[in-house]
Amino acid sequence: MPDKSIFILGASRGIGLGLAREFLSRGWSVVASERSRSEDLHDLADESEGRLRIVTADVTEANSYADLGFEDASLDVIVINAGISGAQHQRSEEATREEVADVMMTNAFGPAAASKALLPRLKDGGTLCVMSSLMGSISDSSGGFELYRTSKTALNMLAKGIAEQQAGPRKIEVLALHPGWVQTDMGGSSAPLSVDESVCGLADVIEAAGGGGFRYVDYSGKELAY
Ligand code: NDP
Repeated sequence: MPDKSIFILGASRGIGLGLAREFLSRGWSVVASERSRSEDLHDLADESEGRLRIVTADVTEANSYADLGFEDASLDVIVINAGISGAQHQRSEEATREEVADVMMTNAFGPAAASKALLPRLKDGGTLCVMSSLMGSISDSSGGFELYRTSKTALNMLAKGIAEQQAGPRKIEVLALHPGWVQTDMGGSSAPLSVDESVCGLADVIEAAGGGGFRYVDYSGKELAY
């Protein structure tokens, strides 16, 4: 069994909870965050024989990370998974200042700030993941859902910058991940992928990563165009 550790920010439900379950099943030690108590996450911790530790963090609060109890350079992988589909008004001509601020902070600037704050906790040669979306790809875009799309494009930009400027010298690989269209509260019940299918693929991609650089890649390992 691997002696490896992962921190997942935003693991109360959906893909984040699924990733916590998947990495536990692969023998990893997992630290997972919730904002408020998640019974599903606590049930998972109860079954984990002490390999799942739960912390509290909000991706929009940069000072959430100070007291998470990690040693420096103790983690193999960090996944910033938290995200929202956002606002009632997705169109640029309708979105309010508050809606834009909320979605951009939660999906782009908060994850980037969290990544920078948490980088010292990652081992050299480790992997930093942000949960992006194919909807953030400019070349793939057919328009629509403007606020969410733009927030994920911004996240890709910020993650690339972190890879170049901060993670690069330490050979940390930065992955902007697309989980597929997944049956969660956000993805809805018409989505083609179950959480288990998505997180199994994502975990394979994460376990195979390492060596530095930046990649925008989906749950099957396919490279995506920005
Ligand atoms: P869910 O809505 O099911 O879960 C979202 C998760 O993010 C919850 O754990 C939620 O916590 C957490 N979260 C939201 N805001 C914050 C915050 N401010 N601080 C900390 N945690 C927060 O979504 P999914 O599981 O479907 O999505 C997970 C990620 O995958 C997102 O980044 C999403 O954009 C991305 N994604 C999802 C796709 C899909 O088809 N489902 C497709 C492409 C990308 P809480 O319970 O406290 O609200």
